[in-house]
Amino acid sequence: MKIVETLTAPEMEGRDAGTKGIDLARDYIVDRYKSLGLKPAFVIDGEPSYTQPLTVRTGRDEEGNPVHSPVENVGAILPGRGDLADEIIVIGAHYDHIGYGHFGSRDKNAKGHLHPGADDNASGTAGMLLLAEHFAQARMVASIHDDFLFGSLPRRTIFFTGFAAEERGLVGSKYMVQNPEQWAFDAEQVSGMINMDMIGRLRDRDLYIFTDNTGKQWRGWINAANGGVGLNLKWDVRPPGGSDHVVFISVGIPAVFFNTWLHEDVHTPRDTADKINGKGGAMVVQVVANLTEQAVTSYERVTFVPPKPRPPRPYLGVKLGGHEAGVLLEDVAEKGPMEKAGAQNGDVLLSIGGKKTGSAGDVRAFLSKAKAGTKVKARVLRGDETLELTVLLGTRR
Ligand SMILES: [Zn+2]
Repeated sequence: MKIVETLTAPEMEGRDAGTKGIDLARDYIVDRYKSLGLKPAFVIDGEPSYTQPLTVRTGRDEEGNPVHSPVENVGAILPGRGDLADEIIVIGAHYDHIGYGHFGSRDKNAKGHLHPGADDNASGTAGMLLLAEHFAQARMVASIHDDFLFGSLPRRTIFFTGFAAEERGLVGSKYMVQNPEQWAFDAEQVSGMINMDMIGRLRDRDLYIFTDNTGKQWRGWINAANGGVGLNLKWDVRPPGGSDHVVFISVGIPAVFFNTWLHEDVHTPRDTADKINGKGGAMVVQVVANLTEQAVTSYERVTFVPPKPRPPRPYLGVKLGGHEAGVLLEDVAEKGPMEKAGAQNGDVLLSIGGKKTGSAGDVRAFLSKAKAGTKVKARVLRGDETLELTVLLGTRR
């Protein structure tokens, strides 16, 4: 809660690119990394650095030319030990937000008002920093007792990172992944990524987990990690918009995303620190800590499972109109699936794929279950003639 309160204070200005506030947030995170004895995660112009500078488009000037603002990703590493030390697990959270709501606000009357972004994503940033503290301390204790505790020590290196400009389109994480030569370690060795974005509104103990199917071990490990915590794990629901983990998945890194679900205060001035469920957030962080421990100590490396592409959707290439006998076909597209099957403007669709089509809704219901690229029978009425057509359903990606 202390971290969330600090990051949402008025001087942090909602942590948007181009404000002094985001620089303060950056300094706050870097200071914590330093106080924990973590090492810089980047090498910029040959120098070790806790920050990775980049620019993001933040608007246009009076002549309409794009204006860019400097922002920085922040990152630190806790070196692993032994034969897995060159493998990396990434713990990430974006630390930016939408500032005064000139873009990205869901509240039309809130332009110019502070959007503190307590849940989004001071909460995840706090989680990332708590994990850094936890593992840095475990490392310190273990270095005193060395061999005795070596078995439960982070074998893999942990990369703790705060992404900039997530709200402007995952700009910070994309830049990070596209510039691996600026990392202080071998980017090829990143074996997993854990993202926290909006973990501050736990309700009914429901914790949502996305994209666990990108790593074969994630689900088993997360179930085990939750054992002593007892949250209700909600799997595989459709993501509430992408966050930085998708960037890692796109380059073949198994990445999993923790979130306590959307609420009406998202991207409004009402996403304030006093509404954060601190105890709930701590439980989420405990689950993520247990998972991280598993991921950094296990000899098993997370196996990447490429996400399946979304199946293509079928289409007919017509506009569906009303008609007492069935569905009126209008604007039959040239070279579209229905035209190729022989349909004309003004035909009335009576059935498709063996389903009677009394209304446009019936056609849509059929399409929602049909497979693109397959052939189906259709009956149409033209004048007082009934025609049998064979339609090759179109494929839309
Ligand atoms: Zn967010």
